[in-house]
Amino acid sequence: MGRRVLEHIEIDKDGNGHKVYRCAKCGTTLGPADKGFKEYAVVKEASYSHYVDAGILATRSDRFVLREFYCPKCAVRFDVESVVKGEPYLDIKIRDD
Ligand SMILES: [Zn+2]
Repeated sequence: MGRRVLEHIEIDKDGNGHKVYRCAKCGTTLGPADKGFKEYAVVKEASYSHYVDAGILATRSDRFVLREFYCPKCAVRFDVESVVKGEPYLDIKIRDD
């Protein structure tokens, strides 16, 4: 059992003692924890306007996007971020102890 860092993301050690990200729902190992877990996720990105049409957001904009990050195996949603289109993924700093 690894250390939970988000509802569906945990950090665990692989057989060689290296830290890896794991999906806390299905147990799939995503990849080494020296990068952000978002690098291993399935990403869906859409402009705000898409979410206005879906009745979720009230602000119509093509400058901002919502990015949703999903497990590549079980498709549970790991995280959502709201950013200016083209910006790199928001990084989550995890204390190393
Ligand atoms: Zn999963």
